[in-house]
Amino acid sequence: MLYDAVVIGAGPGGYVAAIKLGQRGKKVALVEKSFVGGTCTNWGCIPTKALLSSVHLYSEIVEKSRQLGVTVENVQCDFPAVRSHMNKVVTMSRKGIEYLLKKYNVELVSAEAVIESNSLVKAGETTLETKNIIIATGSYPSLIPPFDRVPGVWTSDDVFKMEKLPESILIVGGGVIGVEFATFFSTLKIPVTIVEVMDHILPTEDKDVAEVITKSLKKKGVQIYESSKVVGVEPIDDGFRCLIESKEGKIEKTAQKILVSVGRRPKIGEDVKALGLEIQRGIKTNTKMQTNIPNIYAVGDVRGQIMLAHVAMFEGVVAAKNICGEESHMDYSAVPSVIFSNPEVASVGLHEKDADPSQVKIFSFPLSANGRARTILEREGFAKVIADKNTLKVLGMTIVGPSATDMMMEGVVAVRNGLNAKDLEESIHPHPTLTETILGAIEGVVEMPIHL
Ligand code: NAD
Repeated sequence: MLYDAVVIGAGPGGYVAAIKLGQRGKKVALVEKSFVGGTCTNWGCIPTKALLSSVHLYSEIVEKSRQLGVTVENVQCDFPAVRSHMNKVVTMSRKGIEYLLKKYNVELVSAEAVIESNSLVKAGETTLETKNIIIATGSYPSLIPPFDRVPGVWTSDDVFKMEKLPESILIVGGGVIGVEFATFFSTLKIPVTIVEVMDHILPTEDKDVAEVITKSLKKKGVQIYESSKVVGVEPIDDGFRCLIESKEGKIEKTAQKILVSVGRRPKIGEDVKALGLEIQRGIKTNTKMQTNIPNIYAVGDVRGQIMLAHVAMFEGVVAAKNICGEESHMDYSAVPSVIFSNPEVASVGLHEKDADPSQVKIFSFPLSANGRARTILEREGFAKVIADKNTLKVLGMTIVGPSATDMMMEGVVAVRNGLNAKDLEESIHPHPTLTETILGAIEGVVEMPIHL
């Protein structure tokens, strides 16, 4: 049988591409050696958000219930029940994907794929003949020296396997994963240390973002070493001793567990290398997601570029459309970044740190001036809008606060469609909502905010 496409890897890039092709009546096989859903569903986005939802509720009750007039006694976080919630959500998500694959006639092949040529893919005992191949094999967590030589050091893959909470944890890398797990553990009062090589945590975001998150983590007792590196690590009884090179000199620190979250690397097999695909960090593609071999496409983390599930999904759709003969190009002009810290962080488009101050107007509206935020006892955060100084076209937006990750869609639509700040200012924002924080920032860019 000749397939229109064989997709390798059932993560967000691969399964979405396969569904799109199936919806368009194409004959498609999806080869996966493990669970459908990839890192995102099984060891990433979904389980972390399940864990964070539990501790968020816990901290809301502990910190706010009394002030909100609700009496709750004997509040406890039962970790086995938290894990069971996480596992249920992961299973449901996997089942959902399997259901969709069936619904759209995608043939799911449970095997490890080996690409033999641009038209043959070996999947276990069977060889699939195909007109097109989509490589969506994802990425794995980087384990850098000296940690690669010490057994028992965790990456994000290992955290989800923990059966009981650690007594203390040292997190190497204060990026997205580091901050999300620091939020989880510190909310449960587990001593957390973050060691970040750059001069602030979340270095891809602006400094004012890092300041709010640093303050919130420190309030929960997290120790943060910026411009610092772990230069030595050795196992000790029930834990590790680390030597940290910091601004203050060399510091020794012990922790029961170490989590290394310093980025991820694309998963590129020997079969892919042997094909002669161009590789630059990851598999190189054009904006149609085509590699240098025109009927082989690559989507998601395996490209080694923007490693986000939502980017992978969109790349999967673009690849599928091109395979169907509809010319489609990936547009990276408005990729939202979302961090499920407490408060949440989201940004899109231009950041203040990358902007030429002479060319832009920037306004930051504080969450503390928002009425809805007061009702939920929140005051740490802001919405910041960056617009072109002359045209007032919205170039970028950053939000720090509750539901920032959901609210960011206003910024995505604005930046993606080149909307003017006046377009947003004239759009009625419902009252009382947190979205009025964005309105305040927009008003500030256009003229003056009413509520400040
Ligand atoms: P990251 O790139 O977000 O952060 C890595 C951090 O480690 C950076 O702050 C970097 O400066 C630091 N670092 C690098 N080397 C170091 C060293 N030797 N010592 C100390 N610090 C060091 O990577 P991540 O957090 O591992 O996440 C991996 C990928 O997964 C990212 O692309 C991320 O965007 C994605 N992800 C996204 C979400 C989300 O969208 N909410 C959640 C989790 C992961």
